[in-house]
Amino acid sequence: MFYIKVDSELCKGCLLCVSECPKGLIKSGNNFNSKGWLVVSAEAEGCTGCRRCVTVCPDLAIKLYREN
Ligand code: SF4
Ligand code: SF4
Repeated sequence: MFYIKVDSELCKGCLLCVSECPKGLIKSGNNFNSKGWLVVSAEAEGCTGCRRCVTVCPDLAIKLYREN
């Protein structure tokens, strides 16, 4: 099983990852980080581990994990 975590302090809310995820797991969130950016949130269920979101994020805010 794969899942991602978004580091909300690194995210700038550019939304590139939202359009990149083929499963639609990343959404524009409701929380602002300490720098005032509106950060994204991600659902854990359904991630295929394709890494597209990890690759597209210019701020290295997304980490991909694998759980057996
Ligand atoms: S690794 Fe792929 S499926 Fe998983 S959240 Fe990122 S873009 Fe979506
Ligand atoms: S691509 Fe990175 S910086 Fe942009 S919204 Fe997604 S997690 Fe945040």
